[in-house]
Amino acid sequence: MSKVVEMKKVEKGVIGLKKSAICKERILNKALPVIGEGNLNAKILFIGEAPGKKESETGKPFCGASGKVLDELLGYIKLDREKVYVTNIVKDRPPKNRDPKPEEIEMYSLFLDKQIEIIKPKIIVTLGRFSMEYIMNRYGLSQERDVISKIHGKVFNTKICKQKVIVAPLYHPAVAIYNRNKIGELKKDFRKLSKYI
Ligand code: URA
Repeated sequence: MSKVVEMKKVEKGVIGLKKSAICKERILNKALPVIGEGNLNAKILFIGEAPGKKESETGKPFCGASGKVLDELLGYIKLDREKVYVTNIVKDRPPKNRDPKPEEIEMYSLFLDKQIEIIKPKIIVTLGRFSMEYIMNRYGLSQERDVISKIHGKVFNTKICKQKVIVAPLYHPAVAIYNRNKIGELKKDFRKLSKYI
């Protein structure tokens, strides 16, 4: 099966979800799920938290204020967004952008796992603590896991489906919206990341 067809199956699975409160909200508000966007053969996979308002209106990840910061950071290391794949753990928008609940992360993580299996990235960049916690726990790095303020910008080696994968936990780009001083720290981490690309 081609990667495009496999990803379509992921999309169908998400659209078919009806049981959780956030799926119901999506249906009620005629909003869109956000599956992910980019190159299905990407070497680098970026994983955020959950769609915001703009994302759930367009179906595209990181197209609002956080997306602007992400684009700035990608531009800083001269990495084309078309070359990478960008997604979130949770594919539907939590109301009022509240934090995703553990049961929501659990429900949507099956789709994220499948996307990782399809794309087979060499580098997984987690954006924010939710994707960091999920990916590190899920893929054999729970011992190395710590608070994001301690491990952002470090890289961890693991294996997924017998392939070597680097996991790089970074701050969520939204931190630079609320505190513009954080952009320097994010840029430093992105520069470190560029060594592995
Ligand atoms: N924040 C995220 O974590 N993901 C998006 O797609 C947008 C904002």
